[in-house]
Amino acid sequence: MIGQPLTEVTPQHNPDDLLLVNRNWPISGEYVPADLRVTEIPGQVRKLRAEAAAAMEEMAAALRKETGKRLISVSGYRPYDKQSRIYARKLKKVGGVEALADEYVARPGTSEHQTGLTMDVGERGVEDNLGDAFGESVSGHWVRDNAWRFGFILRYQKGWEDVTGYEYEPWHLRYVGRAHAAYLHEHPMPLEEYLLLVREERLLRVLARRGMTQAEEPEETAEAAGTEEALPAIEDELPAMETVETDDDQGGEDAASLRDLRALRSA
Ligand SMILES: [Zn+2]
Repeated sequence: MIGQPLTEVTPQHNPDDLLLVNRNWPISGEYVPADLRVTEIPGQVRKLRAEAAAAMEEMAAALRKETGKRLISVSGYRPYDKQSRIYARKLKKVGGVEALADEYVARPGTSEHQTGLTMDVGERGVEDNLGDAFGESVSGHWVRDNAWRFGFILRYQKGWEDVTGYEYEPWHLRYVGRAHAAYLHEHPMPLEEYLLLVREERLLRVLARRGMTQAEEPEETAEAAGTEEALPAIEDELPAMETVETDDDQGGEDAASLRDLRALRSA
């Protein structure tokens, strides 16, 4: 995997709900989620992948029941082309200086909104939802405490900027599924670091199956990382790109992927 463009390996190496997209780990311009649908959340750009859409609707209903507030969509699924146009417009505005444009807008392929698993939410009636106002609103507080119950995480939290590459965004919710979200609620960490843990555990399990290491090792890893319980169940088989390789190569390939993720974490 080392030496290959990241755009070619990202979706395959991060299956299911844990798809990783960030400034260092772009997604291919070709990637369009297959099961997008318009959510029943009022607002604009309301599309999400089917599972995330259902979870978001359930969350909005719970918010309304528990606080009386109404959630709105500010931005859900955003295709690569649209992100390209937004970036190009910003670049023009700042006189073609990429470093300046990058401060405000994600480059095409580096926005998590392209996954269809992300929605920027707001509270109906709040003036400036994409600002500190949402974080301080009733919904903002509620979402911070409760989004995990529906499988969402607050992707960009305070103090994580160096890892995620993004400033604090109390409105940016990312669907990862209930098991992962519950674990991350108990053990808060950026998705980047969590994926490293998941991948390490998967690698150790593969090695254990081949008799290359002791089966107890995944537990030791969890302890070493300061976690008390095992990670939620994840897909046991290797991602698609690795399964096409010969058996002999797989161990080395996984080790290389792990090195990459470690490098990513320290980037
Ligand atoms: Zn967002």
